[in-house]
Amino acid sequence: MPNPSLLILPGDGIGPEVMAEVRKIIDWFEAKRGIAFDVSEDLVGGCAYDKHGTPLHDDTMARAQEVDAVLLGAVGGPKYDNLDFSVKPERGLLRLRKEMDLFSNLRPAQCFDALADFSSLKKDVVAGLDIMIVRELTSGVYFGEPRGIFEEGNERVGINTQRYTESEIDRVARSAFDLAMKRGKKLCSMEKANVMESGILWREVVTEVGKDYPEVELSHMYADAGAMQLTRWPKQFDVIVTDNLFGDLLSDLAAMLTGSLGMLPSASLGAPMNNGRPKALYEPVHGSAPDIAGQGKANPCACILSFAMALRYSFDMGDEADRLEKAVNDVLASGVRTADLLNEDGITPASTTEMGDAVIKALDASL
Ligand code: NAD
Repeated sequence: MPNPSLLILPGDGIGPEVMAEVRKIIDWFEAKRGIAFDVSEDLVGGCAYDKHGTPLHDDTMARAQEVDAVLLGAVGGPKYDNLDFSVKPERGLLRLRKEMDLFSNLRPAQCFDALADFSSLKKDVVAGLDIMIVRELTSGVYFGEPRGIFEEGNERVGINTQRYTESEIDRVARSAFDLAMKRGKKLCSMEKANVMESGILWREVVTEVGKDYPEVELSHMYADAGAMQLTRWPKQFDVIVTDNLFGDLLSDLAAMLTGSLGMLPSASLGAPMNNGRPKALYEPVHGSAPDIAGQGKANPCACILSFAMALRYSFDMGDEADRLEKAVNDVLASGVRTADLLNEDGITPASTTEMGDAVIKALDASL
């Protein structure tokens, strides 16, 4: 069996800084657990534009289609703000998502015990929280036609179209049910079937798919009620599946229940490849953070936890993913904090490298 292959795209700003810490962890898994990855590295975003005049070179795109998983840091920065829309750094990321057809976006909201005080909600509401939002990523109102700003009579009208086919709903529902099977076997589907026909179809198709997963307890909720329930008592949920627009809002809401942007990983999955693994892109939720780039202040945990998701969802190494997530939790519990996780003066924050080293030490302690 060939080693699992991983394409690393550090990108811009703090991307290369946080990715350097992930590289140490990949090396640790090889040295201490005998798990070797076939790792290649390439450019995406502004740095790719600087070298090739495009935010994603065709060769990089082709490599992304071949590997078992892509791990991306972040793209963008003020230097590129005035570039033409077609070559902006973000276009590189969008091309990856589109050409790999990554329709299922996994956004976990997990509250690490040591950070429960960091949430804007009461500690008992968020302590121990571990939910997953599955957002449909390649269809819905962000892509539906017709769209545009048109003249109508003597004024303009802005139009976007919410559109879902049965097969688009079916495939994202299946990915959410599969996930629920690996977790707490509870799935809540959110739409607005009370006022939207696309919501009625969504509910029908999800219910139909549910018949193939009799062990999963399926419920339905209107997305506005879902937003309320997520802030009232989020621990009632295990996996939530929803469309592109509602998922955009609900995943941000749920993620911030747990604290800092520096802690939030994500995965975007597509159809299974010949080897049975889904096409996959893993990336932290945060951007390139130009305000702290190059200063050694970035929290590498979101990128490290994105790699943990790759271990779990691309490489079927759930135990190793647990080991890595526990190491991050142990580091936080021991009081090590990067600056974004400190809200009091007088404590010296850990640097990006110190945080990465602390995770390695915690991994060593796990053996
Ligand atoms: P951002 O996520 O880069 O930063 C928002 C705030 O959070 C900043 O104060 C930053 O210092 C802080 N922050 C973010 N990540 C952190 C980390 N790991 N550790 C500590 N602090 C962290 O969002 P922004 O400022 O709106 O955007 C900056 C650039 O990033 C823009 O060019 C934007 O287009 C791009 N961007 C890229 C992505 C991506 O690559 N997926 C996502 C969002 C924004």
